[in-house]
Amino acid sequence: MVTVVKKSLSQIQKDVLPSVRGRYSFDTSLSGLTWFQVGGPAYVVYKPEDVSDLQYFLKNKPNTLSYFVMGAGSNILVRDGGYDGAVIKLGRGFSQITIENDELIAGAAALDRTVAMFAVQHHITGVEFLVTIPGAIGGAVAMNAGCYGFEVKDILAWVEIVDAQGNLSRLSPYELSMSYRKSVLPEGCVIVRAAFKIAPGNAVDIQQNIQQYLQLREMSQPTKGRTGGSTFKNPEHVAAWELIDQAGCRGISIGAAKMSDKHCNFMLNTGGASASELERLGELVRQKVKGKSGQELEWEIIRIGHEEELKREVA
Ligand SMILES: Cc1cc2nc3c(=O)[nH]c(=O)nc-3n(C[C@H](O)[C@H](O)[C@H](O)COP(=O)(O)OP(=O)(O)OC[C@H]3O[C@@H](n4cnc5c(N)ncnc54)[C@H](O)[C@@H]3O)c2cc1C
Repeated sequence: MVTVVKKSLSQIQKDVLPSVRGRYSFDTSLSGLTWFQVGGPAYVVYKPEDVSDLQYFLKNKPNTLSYFVMGAGSNILVRDGGYDGAVIKLGRGFSQITIENDELIAGAAALDRTVAMFAVQHHITGVEFLVTIPGAIGGAVAMNAGCYGFEVKDILAWVEIVDAQGNLSRLSPYELSMSYRKSVLPEGCVIVRAAFKIAPGNAVDIQQNIQQYLQLREMSQPTKGRTGGSTFKNPEHVAAWELIDQAGCRGISIGAAKMSDKHCNFMLNTGGASASELERLGELVRQKVKGKSGQELEWEIIRIGHEEELKREVA
């Protein structure tokens, strides 16, 4: 008699994953890692200890294992079926902030807000706008995040990456061809550090800038909701929210997924929404905007994973 031994896919991956100093968590739900708080599990979440640990992982991981880099998860919608690969989540070993000459150097896991407040303490100007962006530095560079007339590309001096083969290198902003909410990064690379151009500033002025940005944000956006920020990019010469409003989509909902009444380009999980409801709502908005104005809205929120849970048992 032949006994068929069933092994989960995560177990198979576990057997062949490199022995790192960082941490693996298997079949971990990703909902707790994103602002939307929805989505299924990843086969494995890998938290590298430091840069050399990350390099070791990328050099030695199985070629068949796909991976995705998660920052603070403030611009990501993970689908309900989860992600059938590794999610790389940078942590403490990547959160140092220092000042060297006329540059502020921050690890990719440092939160944008922490970087802005560090600059305030050191009477440094140039990075104040980061205070209202709820992501981490890696995500800010990858998305060329921006607000109130500033973008990361205006202040970026250089960025350090580990490429898909595990090599560490430094790139200039020109090499990233940064444009509106986009950086062209080498395929599969992980940003590990970034340096920003800074200048000494007046403490009172810097503090005022910060307060002004925080107030503006509080007035115009649902900052405490389960959201992913702007759902769609602004098309040229027009704000996405205006098109959404004109198409009658302010406040519309599918299940517990809702377009915010306060800022109608923000989508909200009002409690217990599924990723599918959120994505379907977004597609409905795109369809209505196209019908009303002829404009094709482009998702700014990055969607990853499968709609349906994959069969995870193999013989
Ligand atoms: C309430 C709210 C307000 C927001 N306001 C703004 C705003 O004013 N302006 C703005 O630009 N955005 C805004 N956003 C969107 C979001 O905060 C930004 O895009 C942010 O920069 C994403 O950073 P993150 O660390 O959360 O990245 P994630 O959402 O985790 O990831 C976003 C992308 O970056 C990639 N990435 C993340 N880290 C790395 C890394 N280390 N190496 C390589 N790739 C990486 C991911 O793979 C993914 O493709 C807002 C979001 C929310 C929830």
